[in-house]
Amino acid sequence: MSATLRLAVRKRAAARSEYCRLPDLVPHLMRFHLEHIRARRHGGPSSLNNLAWACARCNERKGTNLSGVDPDTNRVVRLFNPRRDAWTRHFAWDGLRIRGLTTMGRATAWLLEFNSDERLTLRQGLRMLGLI
Ligand SMILES: [Zn+2]
Repeated sequence: MSATLRLAVRKRAAARSEYCRLPDLVPHLMRFHLEHIRARRHGGPSSLNNLAWACARCNERKGTNLSGVDPDTNRVVRLFNPRRDAWTRHFAWDGLRIRGLTTMGRATAWLLEFNSDERLTLRQGLRMLGLI
């Protein structure tokens, strides 16, 4: 994919992971990806409206998934789509944690491990440095 497309996606995302909101402050240490919201495997194009700026962990955890399971209701639901869905409708900050507000939000937060120990430690460090 072109550098122009990469820059456009990053700029639109305000240089944050469009899933977990991690800022890409140190590109050499924290790899970010052009994530296909609808994976190429499922016919998703490499176009601006199908790409999201995602940290390596979100990109890896989402993989080619289009749906997930809400841990509260056990329902299979569509995953959060940054092009269609408003982050603040489906997620809320709870200190360093990201809480899912809807079935979609909970399924996405669970699948992408928004609140894993590793991520909480990273957020705590960034907060201590005044970077988030
Ligand atoms: Zn992320």
